[in-house]
Amino acid sequence: MAVRVIIDRRRCIGAGTCIVLAPSAFQWRKGDFLKPELVDATTVDEDTLREVVAACPTQAIVLEEVIEAMQAGAGG
Ligand code: SF4
Repeated sequence: MAVRVIIDRRRCIGAGTCIVLAPSAFQWRKGDFLKPELVDATTVDEDTLREVVAACPTQAIVLEEVIEAMQAGAGG
């Protein structure tokens, strides 16, 4: 099952833990002081993403499980 990463910038205090733990997935957002952005979540495995979520001091990062809809043929 795929996961989607959501960063709540209002909760983020700019601690940078996400960037330290997964620098290929998170980076500082240009022009937005001490706010991270998701660069590419596919560069790290799901366990690392869960570690980042657990380590964020303000629970600003949420993983949302994405259920990939199966394209069932409707009719034939
Ligand atoms: S770990 Fe959490 S508080 Fe720290 S920069 Fe990342 S999102 Fe913000």
